[in-house]
Amino acid sequence: MNFKFPTIISTVAVMLFTNSVYAQEAPKYDYVEAFKPFFYSQTGTETRSASGQPGHAYWQNSADYNLNVSLNDVKNEITGTAEITYTNNSPDKMSFLWLQLDQNLFEKDSRGNALVPLSGSRNGAKGEAFDGGYKIKSVKYDGKDVKYTITDTRMQIDLPQELRAKGGVAKIKIEYTFLSPQYGSDRMGIQDTKNGKIFTIAQWYPRMCVYDDVLGWNTMPYLGASEFYLEYGNITANITVPSNHYVVASGELLNEKQVYSKEENNRWSQARNSDKTVMIRQESEIGKNNASGTKTWKFKINQTRDFAWASSPAFIVDAAKINLPSGKKSLAISAYPAESAGEKAWGRSTEYTKAAIEHYSGKWYQYTYPAATNVAGNEGGMEYPGIVFCHMDSKGEELWGVTDHEFGHNWFPMIVGSNERLFAWMDEGFNTFINELSTEAFNKGEYYSKKNIAQMGGYIMNSSFEPIMVGPDNMKENSIGVLAYYKPGMGLGILRESILGPEKFDKAFRTYIDRWAFKHPTP
Ligand SMILES: [Zn+2]
Repeated sequence: MNFKFPTIISTVAVMLFTNSVYAQEAPKYDYVEAFKPFFYSQTGTETRSASGQPGHAYWQNSADYNLNVSLNDVKNEITGTAEITYTNNSPDKMSFLWLQLDQNLFEKDSRGNALVPLSGSRNGAKGEAFDGGYKIKSVKYDGKDVKYTITDTRMQIDLPQELRAKGGVAKIKIEYTFLSPQYGSDRMGIQDTKNGKIFTIAQWYPRMCVYDDVLGWNTMPYLGASEFYLEYGNITANITVPSNHYVVASGELLNEKQVYSKEENNRWSQARNSDKTVMIRQESEIGKNNASGTKTWKFKINQTRDFAWASSPAFIVDAAKINLPSGKKSLAISAYPAESAGEKAWGRSTEYTKAAIEHYSGKWYQYTYPAATNVAGNEGGMEYPGIVFCHMDSKGEELWGVTDHEFGHNWFPMIVGSNERLFAWMDEGFNTFINELSTEAFNKGEYYSKKNIAQMGGYIMNSSFEPIMVGPDNMKENSIGVLAYYKPGMGLGILRESILGPEKFDKAFRTYIDRWAFKHPTP
């Protein structure tokens, strides 16, 4: 997720806090505490080695999804079925399963809504009056109706017989429908444009909660501030939308010959071989497609923790190839409305996307998905595997910053699958750190300016902030930017630049990513 820290406010805040720190507070550093022999509170287990790598008996469950969904663009209604294949690799048998129903955040009486203060919040639906939340039509287990209980954003399914340990497979099928909020907690929603609505759809299908060796079932509700913790698996999605819509999504489009014209398919072929951005559908072609009825777009993505998509009749679409270190190729794609076009704005989105993915792939770990798509919507900036949503009004340096940040998330938490709901610093903080290096590298530092760490220090160390280890739901909303993003990001920067040196730090950081790629590390 994106966090904007307005320059004027930040400068004033930094000065105020810096002065107050020097006037009132002595540092809290305690060398006895810092260097006590057992500063790790948990030593190694069979599943997690004391050395920091997965233990010899590390296990992880998996969830594959087959998703069929259709969009009613007049009612803003999503109707779908989710077929889930859940594999229990844990040493424990299970008599019930837990799923996340994130759309229930937008029910009138949700716990998340109860937390929104009168002064407003980034979280929730900004007071939109609509019939939000899931309507569940059926839940089946091995083809038969099964007992389930919904509590706020969670569903518990009671199993008719226990799911066996170490390889038991559960087949679940859920039929559901919901109305999309206009503003979905800054992570999904609907944006009006002069050529029609843009639907950016996420947290849209029931997803398995993670069962792990740390907390068992992770059933913390979705309240708005804290993000997600999800199992890996393979996902296919068949997305049915009005025929004049264009759809972009996580992963690879499987039926491009059916959904794009011959001319557009030729342009896709050019884009796959081009380092320069190629227009697939230009502004002058918007509104020319008056086909009625519906079209189904088929996508597939492997080894993923989530799936998001966007649909609109208003999209300009462009693309260019991404060159990966092994010689493999991926594809940078942008989808945005006419209002966002132009070289000062989204006309450079594909260039930014390509540069970010190539940088992170070369520096840390090779990108694993067949495409990376940047979509202009009404979100400040939000990440999903292989696709991100950034604000349609973003331009220039700001658009670079948010695009680079959201794609940086493909490494944290999409590749390194940490628990975002509890430890935002492990994705936002690590990502903020790698964004600094990526921005320095982009186009000879076009948008780079070195941060004054000494000046920021007094502000971010101020004792009015909660500890970094507190989850975002448990922080003041105003603290999240510092605690989840800047403080951990800056800490890693200091460790790299001033303490270990880039060579040693980068080796260790790469080792961490490599060891925990597509796994669940925990502090
Ligand atoms: Zn973020």
